[in-house]
Amino acid sequence: MTVAADIAVFETLESEVRLYCRTFPAVFSRARGAELHAEDGRVFIDFFCGAGTLNYGHNNEHIGRRLTAYLADSGLAHGLDLHTVAKREFLTRLRDVVLAPRGLDYKVQFCGPTGTDAVEAALKVARKATGRRGVIAFCGAYHGMSRGSLAVTGNRRARAAGGVGMADVMFVPYEDGPAGRFDSIGYLERMLADPSSGMDVPAAVIVEPLQMEGGLYPASVPWLRRLRELTERHGVLLICDEIQSGCGRTGPFFCFEHAGVVPDIVTLSKALSGYGLPLSVTLLRRDLDVWAPGEHTGTFRGNQLAFVTATAALELWERADFQAGLVTAGARLHRFAAWVRETQPGVTVRQRGLAMGIDLGAAGGPARAGRVQRQCFENGLIVERCGREDEVLKVIPPLTIDPVTLERGLAVLLDALGRPGQAAAGVTARAASPAAVRVAGTR
Ligand code: PMP
Repeated sequence: MTVAADIAVFETLESEVRLYCRTFPAVFSRARGAELHAEDGRVFIDFFCGAGTLNYGHNNEHIGRRLTAYLADSGLAHGLDLHTVAKREFLTRLRDVVLAPRGLDYKVQFCGPTGTDAVEAALKVARKATGRRGVIAFCGAYHGMSRGSLAVTGNRRARAAGGVGMADVMFVPYEDGPAGRFDSIGYLERMLADPSSGMDVPAAVIVEPLQMEGGLYPASVPWLRRLRELTERHGVLLICDEIQSGCGRTGPFFCFEHAGVVPDIVTLSKALSGYGLPLSVTLLRRDLDVWAPGEHTGTFRGNQLAFVTATAALELWERADFQAGLVTAGARLHRFAAWVRETQPGVTVRQRGLAMGIDLGAAGGPARAGRVQRQCFENGLIVERCGREDEVLKVIPPLTIDPVTLERGLAVLLDALGRPGQAAAGVTARAASPAAVRVAGTR
């Protein structure tokens, strides 16, 4: 006999704003690597990883050992922006493993704990450094839920909920999107070059080198290069939001590395701590560090435990087995993407490294994507959706996933999509749960 999960306290006490628990109805108790365990004994393969936070899997052993040793030694847990040993080790490791080998001469600003804090700091410092107010953002963008970052986020419903207006932000279509391709750079070039275009020269352009929430659209190498060249020529700062696309999700540490460009400002968070602990940073070109002491603060900007786990996570980047695993898993997703394209009529697949979007927009739409997602969940796989209408299955397994678990997860996904010759999940109609109604493209 299955005992109904005790979720009374969530339903009576927790706000209606909760989201993921409605899509993945279980009460989770333990997790390890790519697996999540529910208290009723079900085990799930996790192709969602805390919205791109758990790039090294749940409770990564190497990282966890460092954390428990640090706690056992009474290391500081909280430290504002005091100098601490944990922060020194993190900064040193970040410089040696990430910045110096790529020739990046950034200053590191520790922000409040989450991604949106890094975006707020980036926008603020860009405006302060240039003395201009305008920012250009892209349709489909997701940069966070606090007021400044919501203003550069595309989703209408999320913007309305935040009471955010258009002041000082101009949206331009991204290179690709559900409505097709657009010559964003040509358009921007024309607007910036024409002294009577009505567009003031902005402080910055903010861009995700891979739009995740918008539907998993990677910017092409030429597009990002042209954007860099254009912004440089007009003295406009280029902010790359790497909060979800960074920390190895697409192969290299930063997604912008594919294009060989160097942004002026970079935001990082989510997988940076490597263990799911809140940590966010804004990387600033050295001359853009125009802050006066204390001009931008935050109580939790010195999350020492996250410094410890982030330092351990960066050690993984120096290990050949980690690098090899990343390449192998990326190649497997690449082959899977090609196979789905070949065998699933109307389905578009976009993939870069360990980020894959299976777009059902023209092959059953959001309703089918919902059915595939639910079937995956019933068969032990957690996969989230993204895109304007939640029509894209977002497949983001841990970078450290072992080949056998990856294969098992892909098999569940394939079954739910409908193996060629079989009835696809898109054909067997099942009532959509009202809980699935939500603000699409906004995580
Ligand atoms: N930028 C991007 C690209 C994101 O994906 C997210 C989160 N989904 C954010 C910013 C905001 O991060 P947080 O939810 O931690 O505030």
